Amino acid sequence: MGRMMAIAAREMGYNIVVLDPTPNCPCAAVADKQIVASFEDVDAAKELLSLCDVITYEFENVNLAVAKALEPKLPQGSELLKITQNRILEKALIRSADQRTVNYTAIESQQNLHDFAKDYQTNPRKIVIKTAQGGYDGKGQFVMESAQALEEFIKQQYNEGLTYVAEDFISFEKEISVIVCGNISGELSTFPVAENIHKNQILHKSIVPARIADSILQKAEAAAIQIARKLQLVGTLAVEMFVTTDNVIINELAPRPHNSGHYTLDACATSQFEQHIRAICNLPLSDNRLLSPCVMINVLGQDDYLMNPNYVGKHKLHLYGKKEAKHDRKMGHINVLGETQDECIIEADKLLEP
Ligand code: ADP
Ligand code: MG
Repeated sequence: MGRMMAIAAREMGYNIVVLDPTPNCPCAAVADKQIVASFEDVDAAKELLSLCDVITYEFENVNLAVAKALEPKLPQGSELLKITQNRILEKALIRSADQRTVNYTAIESQQNLHDFAKDYQTNPRKIVIKTAQGGYDGKGQFVMESAQALEEFIKQQYNEGLTYVAEDFISFEKEISVIVCGNISGELSTFPVAENIHKNQILHKSIVPARIADSILQKAEAAAIQIARKLQLVGTLAVEMFVTTDNVIINELAPRPHNSGHYTLDACATSQFEQHIRAICNLPLSDNRLLSPCVMINVLGQDDYLMNPNYVGKHKLHLYGKKEAKHDRKMGHINVLGETQDECIIEADKLLEP
């Protein structure tokens, strides 16, 4: 993510300094300088502050003390991070922007858990318990359907040092996302809505344009704008949503360019990465028109064949330069473009099932 942001910034003529604990991290290859330090290291953050005019981040789990130290040059601010780092604060923010979330209970203490378990006994249903902080790609999530399963969770997995949300597990029609960018002057702009297909809770494919009714499309865009306004968004916000028969329910937020927006690299007049750099540098936002239908396929560590450019052929293979290909690690993605959406879908399926 950092590397793709840096490439966009480079093309616009900026110089780059990256702070990352891993020497020669993927972003370092396109940066002028790397500060090798932990994300918790306030002194290293101060060095970054002294070297840069504008600072941004590629993931939401930046230490808040570090974010505060960077605040003078962090146009996105630390409040956006604070909220999106914590599912409890995030859901409250979404509701305060008059948008819907799934039914949920915040579990911030053993007493909360006890009360929830008691209530659940009288109303067992499919739920997913998520750690309030630090989860991604389905990590830190526990799906259960019975009081007995909840008891087992409490005995074996519950950690009283952590906070959680217990969400009703809903059967949605589709998942979609809207990426919205806002600059310092208050201009806001949304990218075309992506339809997202997950496998094992990891994004597998995004199909753009999303195959949803116009009425849902409008609700999705309006919801994203409303949330962005509430946050006084500067930078990029990805809004993940569930689509029901006639509405959208907001699942979660990410305060950065998003995997479901990688299609913009090849299919839009401006990529989410360029738009993000424009947003934080207070430049005018540019044209986010969709120039071609697109199917984006994620390439994971086990998908060796998809990392072979000869196999992928004319389709747009993006590899992130990660050194080790671990199982389920996102190594790159492929954008399949075509004359029609059907063509993109067929071509993408051919790649996936040779
Ligand atoms: P993260 O992406 O941070 O791991 P999410 O909350 O987006 O966490 O969950 C990952 C995926 O799990 C979602 O995209 C969705 O497919 C599924 N999921 C999460 N919460 C629910 C829910 N309440 N009901 C149904 N499916 C869910
Ligand atoms: Mg998600």
